[in-house]
Amino acid sequence: MGDSKDKKGKIVIISGPSGVGKSTICKQIVASRDDICLSVSMTTRPKSEAEIDGHDYWFVSKEQFQERISEGSFLEYAEVFGHMYGTPRDKVEQMLQCCKTVILEIDVQGARQVKVFYPDAVMIFILPPSAKVLAERLNHRGREAAEVAEQRLGGAGTEIAAAWQYYEHMVVNEDLQQAVNECLQIIEDA
Ligand code: 5GP
Repeated sequence: MGDSKDKKGKIVIISGPSGVGKSTICKQIVASRDDICLSVSMTTRPKSEAEIDGHDYWFVSKEQFQERISEGSFLEYAEVFGHMYGTPRDKVEQMLQCCKTVILEIDVQGARQVKVFYPDAVMIFILPPSAKVLAERLNHRGREAAEVAEQRLGGAGTEIAAAWQYYEHMVVNEDLQQAVNECLQIIEDA
């Protein structure tokens, strides 16, 4: 397990319901600062047309994912909406050793696992301005089938309720640039 005492950089966890815009926020944060990088997760979810293997995720089979679990290669992993997602431990540790701030864009279950090993990890949860806006964003992004989007919207309430319990920082993504600036300020102050 990662030894939080040896690390030189910091871990920032960014979570939020599907469609809230957290990937866009994370990419903008990373683009704006040389000392912040984004961890690329591994997943068994099918790749969408717009996604690039090794950039958005490492897309693997269930068997490959299971092998990584057995090897203890994940800092955390969880099943989210019927697919497995995990954070490769070695990459995160390397980046921390290089004094980098590492952003983990992961769900609430994964965030709680990371917090056990890195108690000083900064936890930010991105909220939509309203339930209506979230539904509109999810339906319009067109990445997944309507029933999958419905399932994800259904999970948002539970995720947000859990977030109020565990996250230190809540950021509303009404205006993208403002949300990015708020996250950067939180990271700066941590
Ligand atoms: P999506 O399929 O929309 O890319 O991601 C679905 C959910 O899985 C999101 O809440 C996202 O934050 C979460 N997720 C992505 N990567 C990881 C990971 O490595 N670990 C965990 N626990 N959740 C992840």
